[in-house]
Amino acid sequence: MRSTFLPFSTPTIEDAEINEVIDSLKSGWITTGPKVKRFEEDFRAYVGAPFAVPLSSATAGLHLTLLALAIKEGDEIITTPMTFASTVSMIILCGGTPVLADIEPGTLNIDVNEVRRRITPRTRAIIPVHFAGQSCDMDPLFALAGEFDLTIIEDAAHAAGTEYKGRRIGSLDSISIFSFHPNKNITTGEGGMVCTADETLAEEISLLKFHGMSREAWKRFAASGTPNYDILLPGFKYNMMDIQAAIGIHQLPRLDGFIVKRAEIAEYYNRELADVQELAVPQYAPYQQRHAWHLYTPLVRIEKLSIDRDRFMEELKKHNIGSGLHYKAIHHHAWYREHMPIADSQLPNASYASERILSLPLFPKMTMDDARDVVEAVKDVIAAHRT
Ligand SMILES: *Cc1c(COP(=O)(O)O)cnc(C)c1O
Repeated sequence: MRSTFLPFSTPTIEDAEINEVIDSLKSGWITTGPKVKRFEEDFRAYVGAPFAVPLSSATAGLHLTLLALAIKEGDEIITTPMTFASTVSMIILCGGTPVLADIEPGTLNIDVNEVRRRITPRTRAIIPVHFAGQSCDMDPLFALAGEFDLTIIEDAAHAAGTEYKGRRIGSLDSISIFSFHPNKNITTGEGGMVCTADETLAEEISLLKFHGMSREAWKRFAASGTPNYDILLPGFKYNMMDIQAAIGIHQLPRLDGFIVKRAEIAEYYNRELADVQELAVPQYAPYQQRHAWHLYTPLVRIEKLSIDRDRFMEELKKHNIGSGLHYKAIHHHAWYREHMPIADSQLPNASYASERILSLPLFPKMTMDDARDVVEAVKDVIAAHRT
């Protein structure tokens, strides 16, 4: 057994990021300023989006996108139950009604046929999540959106660097929302970015993100600005700071390398675990894409074991192996059980995955020895609890 604890994820921060943050701290300008502008431009160019709006989180991005689209009471938004809570919470906080469509059993991405079944005259938008960094099948989703006049908002929190049929997520004809939380493929500490080809929407989100002040108002204390400002509408406080962008500026050029490293480890796991009957390893979608491997999420076949998934994770911990839970399905959380009860039979694939899924360690700084320790611990736990 390994002697030190291996966390399920940890960010890769080098001297470049540290020095850039120090530079910001010493510069006298630590909040939104030139470094946010540079990170916005670099990220926009990397994903190939016409417009990008940097924010304090992806959750803020979801919130402002829904507000900018004027989502209101009675509007239905179709999304996946296999996501982080904020995808669905933001719909509710805007007064909309989330409608959960089941996932495909292999990729755990939203099932387009299940989306179609749930479209009503009140449906306004679809929020697909590129689960674990693997692109959803966007062509049929865009076809549906065209047929029923719906907006596609991609929750791209896992998908910085993901490509669908040769196109980067962020460059499709939709709205894509990225997260730079420390566990994500690149980080700014906390942070997010909304990417879109819709200039009006980008302008609206820019306004809403900072008190409703006109776009370049952050400059008002700089030599080039004027201290006067105007409030064009009541807005939020969701701006990204320069000390956050300072980190992102140096993470972004390493993203492709991070993905290569993540894919190496994921493929090693796939090879080593494919024959383990008590696990179902993640499946590749049939279309051409680049998987960004944000997460490695096998399902534990609990019917073949004497322990449940939570116990499985505890046993891994005793072997000094950390793991994550992405995700307990939305409809299994307390608030949703009470206020929006959905029978497991309505979402059979998500309900099945919810009880069995776990995230094994996957991050660029991991060594192949670390990955071997993970495989060994997984096999040991299974051997000790096989029925
Ligand atoms: C992390 C995450 C979010 C929220 O991102 P924040 O930047 O933490 O607000 C939303 N959706 C998914 C799928 C995520 O993984």
